[in-house]
Amino acid sequence: MKELQSYLGGAWVSGDGDVKEVVNPSTGEALASLRSVGDLAEAVAHARSVGGKNLRAMSLPQRGEMLKALAKLMHEHREELLELSVRSGGNTRGDAKFDVDGATGVLGTYAYLAKSLGEGPWIAVSDPVEVMRGSKIKAQDVLVPRHGLAIHINAFNFPAWGMVGKLAVSLLAGMPVLSKPATSTVALAARIGEIIVESKIIPEGAFSLLVGSAGNLLDQVEAQDVIAFTGSADTGLRIRSHEAVMKSGARVNVEADSLNAVVIGPDVEQGSELFDLVIRDCVTELTQKAGQKCTATRRILVPQSRLEAVREALLDRLGEIASKTGDTSQDGVRMGPLSTRAQLDDARAGIKVLEASARRILGDPERSDFGADGFFLEPVLLEATEDAAKDPAAAFHNHEVFGPVATLLPYDGTVEAAASIIAAGEGSLVSTLYTDDRGFAATAVAEMAPYLGRLVVASEKSAGASISPGCVFPVVVHGGPGRAGGGAELGGTTGLALYMQRTTIQGGGSQLARML
Ligand code: NAP
Repeated sequence: MKELQSYLGGAWVSGDGDVKEVVNPSTGEALASLRSVGDLAEAVAHARSVGGKNLRAMSLPQRGEMLKALAKLMHEHREELLELSVRSGGNTRGDAKFDVDGATGVLGTYAYLAKSLGEGPWIAVSDPVEVMRGSKIKAQDVLVPRHGLAIHINAFNFPAWGMVGKLAVSLLAGMPVLSKPATSTVALAARIGEIIVESKIIPEGAFSLLVGSAGNLLDQVEAQDVIAFTGSADTGLRIRSHEAVMKSGARVNVEADSLNAVVIGPDVEQGSELFDLVIRDCVTELTQKAGQKCTATRRILVPQSRLEAVREALLDRLGEIASKTGDTSQDGVRMGPLSTRAQLDDARAGIKVLEASARRILGDPERSDFGADGFFLEPVLLEATEDAAKDPAAAFHNHEVFGPVATLLPYDGTVEAAASIIAAGEGSLVSTLYTDDRGFAATAVAEMAPYLGRLVVASEKSAGASISPGCVFPVVVHGGPGRAGGGAELGGTTGLALYMQRTTIQGGGSQLARML
């Protein structure tokens, strides 16, 4: 069996921890083994000094060319990576494309963005302004690469997009990266790491890969470092409150749990294209990657008058997918397993928590006849009463079940009621509004947006071109307030700013013009 290794200090190394196995979640078959590395002091110092210097010696356009070459490399290895994604992540081929092609897409987008950022070692992000009216002294803001290490700690659900997406932004910003994928699905991330290292596209020290647990990584954190973490709120809190992280004041970006909602406007008629879109999107968001997406829909707000129609349509479509859940290497399978036995146990326990506030109307969490020995959970749909939906303490407003699970929440069709239900989630990555009523949409923006990183508005007119709301484009911000972690990744230059220091340069107007 292949042993996965870490790439640290410019060399492939085996760890010294206990041997762990990673398995195919569709079958339980062992795919590879690994051992965690305990001491990361030298690896971090090497990446920070050697990698940082090498990257900062490159201009922004040169770094953009590097990303373009990496995108091409990913594309050349696409078939191999898709196949590994199916085997190691329990993904359908469609799920695998979402992860792998999504990764290539971020590289391509940031390579293109590099062309508009100028030739200098910094990015000017404001025009010069007089510090006082009539003064010759002006001030202008620039972004410069931080002189530390970008530490990327990723969740298990997107081993390609999570790792490569963060890498693209950091490298363009000029920060070296140490990437720590989640252990359970590390096989894909490790293979991408091998391909990247073999290609020698990234200069020495600017890319390190840590397989297995984090060892003493956080003890190494210094003031110029950036930690970009994706995962559960509990781990996020542990990272934020780590002594070295707090003492150093290093920058920390957290992407955590999210109870994303969709709001079906009272004007959405059964039989309309918009109604069909609602159902299509809900089914995609519940079942793509078996619901293991941070942006998956967890709460479906339905006006009482549309409840029966929405319920029936969803039961029909999700029931069909339940009958096609299984080993994703087999033809005709529409949804795969959860990533690990522990995730399955967590999801089953989470459904019980939701059942305290809502009744289950579809799916048997204990079902086991999937024709393979994997970690399967069929789609589960719950329904609350209108009164329960309004209760901010109800479980579906504060407990994320990371699987193909959502709850129907009836509401009275007013934007005020919908907004207060959204707010009860205490901060989400994304919510979607389906309506043709402009007044409803405008009020919703004002009332809901403070609780969201992204608000998708879908209408009858745009229904044909609409893209399921869980798809995160590199040009839009990914992150959300409160429970979602308060982070902001991607979003073009917003994402770059995470890895760069915004500094005001203040001086004589002509001096600034010459410098910047
Ligand atoms: P997790 O258990 O929090 O793990 C996330 C990462 O943190 C893994 O790489 C894990 O490593 C690492 N980790 C665990 N303990 C650590 C520690 N003490 N110090 C440093 N690193 C540590 O989360 P998960 O189970 O992988 O992901 C599921 C959760 O992620 C869900 O709750 C979901 O909402 C959230 N998520 C959020 C987003 C988003 O963008 N907002 C995206 C995807 C997932 P090991 O694997 O080695 O333990």
